[in-house]
Amino acid sequence: MENIVILGSTGSIGRQTLEVLEKNPGYFRVYGLAAKNELEILIPQIKKFKPKAVSLAEVEAAQKLKKLFPKLKIYTGQKGLVEISVSPKVSSVLFATSGIVCLEALVECIKNKKRVLVANKESIIAAGKIIQKYLKKYKAEFIPLDSEHSAIFQCLKGENKKEIKNLILTCSGGPFWKTKKEKLKKVTKKEVLSHPVWKMGPKITVDSATLMNKGFEILEAHYIFEIPVEKIKVLIHPQCIIHSMVEFVDGSLKALLSLPDMKIPIQYALFHPHRLPGFLKPLNLSEIKNLSFFDPDEKKFPCLKLAKLAGKIEESMPAVLVFADEILVEKFLRGEIGFLDIPKFLAQIFKMHTLQKISKIEDVFKVKKWVEKTMEKFF
Ligand code: MG
Repeated sequence: MENIVILGSTGSIGRQTLEVLEKNPGYFRVYGLAAKNELEILIPQIKKFKPKAVSLAEVEAAQKLKKLFPKLKIYTGQKGLVEISVSPKVSSVLFATSGIVCLEALVECIKNKKRVLVANKESIIAAGKIIQKYLKKYKAEFIPLDSEHSAIFQCLKGENKKEIKNLILTCSGGPFWKTKKEKLKKVTKKEVLSHPVWKMGPKITVDSATLMNKGFEILEAHYIFEIPVEKIKVLIHPQCIIHSMVEFVDGSLKALLSLPDMKIPIQYALFHPHRLPGFLKPLNLSEIKNLSFFDPDEKKFPCLKLAKLAGKIEESMPAVLVFADEILVEKFLRGEIGFLDIPKFLAQIFKMHTLQKISKIEDVFKVKKWVEKTMEKFF
């Protein structure tokens, strides 16, 4: 049995990963789990999967856990994520934390030739060039978990990169793709949080409503597949059955279809290159009947345009986008700013930023600090 570590085990992707592992016993042993501080979710996971080690972002939560499980190895902080993942006993590490807390662990895992299964968007976007460089140097296996990138990854199997015309990322459209632009100013937190198809955490649900999530996915695809941003298109597809497509130079399109359930790409990533018989519901196209497609309106959803711009400018701009969006979404969730203030303030901070080279992890954290300091002046 292979040892796996799951960073971000209490979040939506982490919980679904454990569910997939539970349904497919005998392949992986859960060696380590990492979370921020959500002990009420983590404790039952520890009892069920009996990991050798756990890492918590917060020291206080770690101390509480130590009392309950005196024999368990418990790490803390960002360093803890590195220590728990680089153990020679571990072969696969799944990255499902949010933000860039796992960035150092990701780079160290690549250097240690671990198989990395990555759902964390922020690290790929903010440190895209660094990750690319290490993946090439150490030849570690990288498998994307996001449903769109998993679809493209699968469509590209056996294909020649030079023959790609475009990557087409599909998008549910979020709750507002039919809403008139004038009305977007007043949408409430509750309306934003009711995503039509996917059930996800609050940050990514807001990003789906502004279409920033799709903007992030353009940048992710750009770094994962090394395709210029100009060749990555977005298509609104409300049924969420096609998870993305690759268009080739000969006019052919390859698409990946399944029911919208994150456990499908999670299972694919875990067992790649093998496919296991699914415990999940199969797709019945005659039940679905219709698949429809629409172009997104970038005037209505400026976040999409801003993300593309960041991808064209490159250097530190994608990092600025990620960190500024994180702060703005939090402010929106606290009711401090409106929905359309998110792209408005993003455009402002783009103008204020002086581009920096991103060649090492510290450069990424420097940009984060700059964004946090600069945004303080906004409010
Ligand atoms: Mg996605």
